[in-house]
Amino acid sequence: MKELQIGVVGLGAIGREHVKRLTERITGCRVVAVSEVNQEVGRKVAEQYGAKFYEDGEELINSPEVEAVMVTTWDPAHAQYVMASIKAGKYVFCEKPLATEVAECEEIIKAEEAFGKRIVQVGFMRRFDPGYVELKKTIEEGKIGLPLIVHACHRNMTHEATMTSEMSIKNSGVHEIDVLRWLLDDDYVSGQVVLPRQSSISAKEGLQDPQIMMLRTKKGICIDVEISQSSGYGYDIQCEVVGDLGTAKLPDPPRVITKTDCTKASGIMPGWETRFIEAYNIEMQDWVDTVLADETPHGASAWDGYMACLTATILGECRAEGGTSKEITLPEKPEFYN
Ligand code: NAP
Repeated sequence: MKELQIGVVGLGAIGREHVKRLTERITGCRVVAVSEVNQEVGRKVAEQYGAKFYEDGEELINSPEVEAVMVTTWDPAHAQYVMASIKAGKYVFCEKPLATEVAECEEIIKAEEAFGKRIVQVGFMRRFDPGYVELKKTIEEGKIGLPLIVHACHRNMTHEATMTSEMSIKNSGVHEIDVLRWLLDDDYVSGQVVLPRQSSISAKEGLQDPQIMMLRTKKGICIDVEISQSSGYGYDIQCEVVGDLGTAKLPDPPRVITKTDCTKASGIMPGWETRFIEAYNIEMQDWVDTVLADETPHGASAWDGYMACLTATILGECRAEGGTSKEITLPEKPEFYN
């Protein structure tokens, strides 16, 4: 059986998780090359998995043994490696976000269209999460009637020292922006960011936490999403869709319920690694299978990554301007991305 030879650029937390996943869990592929700015980490991972280490990510992308690329660096380096992959004509899976700047997304879109074939997939893994998939099916089957309102929340347990108000939307909130657009099969027309009282736990200069993203869609659906970087109790992702015939809610991952000392309790996942493990596994197997079959990837496209970046950027401007509401004018989707 043919094995897809993958090169991974960026071996931080998720890069190492994905290398392990591709090696131990996903069938039909092999990690043959890795690259990482922290050479000590990179060489160690390369040795552990029998892959070749490259000091330079672009050299890895251009090396003949690499057939497909996975980009898992920090956000600002994504665009560079996606562009290099398109230039090399190789399928590329890029962790979210596609890029941090709208202009970079536009460059990627242009380059992929000029290449003439869709080869970019963005790692918005919630589209593969069984709970979100069931929620989407429930809406599409009309069980709750016309969707009217969405209440969602994205609470991280804690955050890195580098977290800023802008990243809170562009790095965390971008998941919500993408998954709700996909869930409702809709696009955004306006947005606003409401700033509640500052959390005493995450109080630091440059980080307003929590924030509430408010969005309105073309169909007229109103969305509120709480983004919090320091719940202190766990990684908590909630989504409830209110329709005119009923409501549908994203299930929590199943955890054992204990009853002891007159107390009923059940666990909450601590982070994305465990909360979305099934979604990552399904997403990655699907990506490897489609690349091996030379088919258009099923996950979020470069266009979806562009839409998410554009929306997040406008919401960032709303916040910076003190919470004003702004129109979100999205360009027409080219036929290439239909
Ligand atoms: P992380 O642990 O901070 O790792 C980021 C990696 O990028 C590190 O290896 C870092 O090296 C490397 N890097 C920094 N500058 C670079 C450059 N100029 N060129 C190449 N590599 C560079 O972060 P992470 O949690 O793994 O996140 C990595 C990416 O995955 C981020 O874009 C994030 O948004 C995404 N992510 C997605 C999910 C999801 O749910 N889909 C979850 C987590 C993360 P140093 O360690 O030396 O700085």
